[in-house]
Amino acid sequence: MQRLILLLTIILCIQFSLIAQTKVDLLLFNGTIYIVDSTMSTAEAMVVNQGKVLETGTNQNIKQKYSATEIIDLHGKPVYPGFIDAHCHFYGYGLDLQYADLKDTKSWDEVVARVSEHAKKHPTSWILGRGWDQNTWPVKEFPNRKMLDSLFPDRPVFLQRIDGHAAIVNDVALKLAKMNEQTIISGGIIEKKKINGKDWLTGTLVDNAVDSVKVKIPPPSREEQIAALMEAQQNCFAVGLTTVDDAGLKRKTLELIDSLQASPDIKNPLMMRIYGMVTSDDEDIEYYLKRGIYRTEKLNIHSIKFYADGALGSRGACLLKPYSDKPEQQGFLLHPEDYFKKMAKRISNSEFQMNTHCIGDSAVRFILHTYSEALKNQKDRRWRIEHAQVVSPEDFALFKKYRIIPSVQPTHATSDMYWAADRLGPERVKGAYAYHQLLEQNGMIPSGSDFPVEDINPLYGFYAAVVRQDKTGFPENGFQIENKWSRAEALKAMTIWAAYSNFEEKEKGSLEPGKFADFVILESDIMKIPDDMLFSVRVVRTYVGGVKVYQKR
Ligand SMILES: [Zn+2]
Repeated sequence: MQRLILLLTIILCIQFSLIAQTKVDLLLFNGTIYIVDSTMSTAEAMVVNQGKVLETGTNQNIKQKYSATEIIDLHGKPVYPGFIDAHCHFYGYGLDLQYADLKDTKSWDEVVARVSEHAKKHPTSWILGRGWDQNTWPVKEFPNRKMLDSLFPDRPVFLQRIDGHAAIVNDVALKLAKMNEQTIISGGIIEKKKINGKDWLTGTLVDNAVDSVKVKIPPPSREEQIAALMEAQQNCFAVGLTTVDDAGLKRKTLELIDSLQASPDIKNPLMMRIYGMVTSDDEDIEYYLKRGIYRTEKLNIHSIKFYADGALGSRGACLLKPYSDKPEQQGFLLHPEDYFKKMAKRISNSEFQMNTHCIGDSAVRFILHTYSEALKNQKDRRWRIEHAQVVSPEDFALFKKYRIIPSVQPTHATSDMYWAADRLGPERVKGAYAYHQLLEQNGMIPSGSDFPVEDINPLYGFYAAVVRQDKTGFPENGFQIENKWSRAEALKAMTIWAAYSNFEEKEKGSLEPGKFADFVILESDIMKIPDDMLFSVRVVRTYVGGVKVYQKR
């Protein structure tokens, strides 16, 4: 009998050891997990350990194999790799958030209320705001500084009008700018009112008078810079972004980011992964070309950013032929051709990627040829043309020929579609925002938003890319609909293809084992829901390296 019990115990032990589960940090099950691998497969469950994806599979298989510290029942919700914005201005957006947003205010009282609310949350030395427009108020006169003076007797206030040509400031700001009733500024107006026969400055300033106060605003302090990064990060996590390609950072900002990531503030860590393009500041370029590529898990400095031309809206884009709605203008390159050629040559001798903003077809053509000349037949350099907004029909094939990556922003198509044909005419506009044609060249394309020019929400870009309509469903059949992407393409553009364009496809962009556990859980499945619902999908949770960084409340 004793022998039998012993035998049974041994058998039980063996069985137990056979089904012993591996302990992991996090297990998600009962969902649709879009892995975004080469076959676009999905899984029901996923395990995460030490910040990386360990395995994906069926509910049964994964639950049998693993036990986890945290288990999440997805209740059928979809999971995607964390979204990547391949071209944005993350830090600039953060700085913008330090300004009170005064757009669409209905009255001066509302402006003051918004400014007070903002000032409570942002303990900056100056209180800044912009976007007011008195023409949209019932009283269409310029406001005065009385309320600002009583609310903020010690902090300077500077509130810019929507066009930037006027501002209202308080008494502290006027004093700091040494403005009084006798001050005269050429090319500017300091508004005055007679009170009891005496001149009184209303606080409203026009043109050059605005600049006289503006120059007194100190550059953001270290604390304000950190606040900008943190606020930008918080908003970006809330829309599912886990990597942002900042298209132009100075060395000192890159170093600040690196130091924050290296020794994080426990309560308030900078968790966002950043692909930082070095701005075309000569000193910074010299420094990084000497130093070489800099790469940590959270920061990748691998690229140098240039501007070839301006924007289409303001007719700064450099075109091959004159503007259709202003024949005397054609746009221009922002530097002599030689400058770009020289820089391309130098960068081609380093490991850096060259990323150049090109909007007009002439700028695109010139940079394509400049890249090809500098790179000769070098392999896998992944140099990018940012925006590639207007492309001449015969130049599309050059992207393929020279293996140049067009980095595009689908929301630009639906923001500019109302006037793009005016600038370009009915023929030339067909080569503009031609994202499908560009995708066909290399079989891949990264997408971004260029925020804060556009909204930060990558799902707006997803919608614009697959539907090519604005929020109201205009135009009915989509703008140049032949250039739409499929949903699978749009998803890849903001995950694996964006990662590839950053030399990061081995560690992110998909949920394959061994990659960072950067992922986002959405309310509903953007691969399946009707077009008109894509706009309102919300993020349930966002994770970076297996750590929850956002949860919907
Ligand atoms: Zn940009």
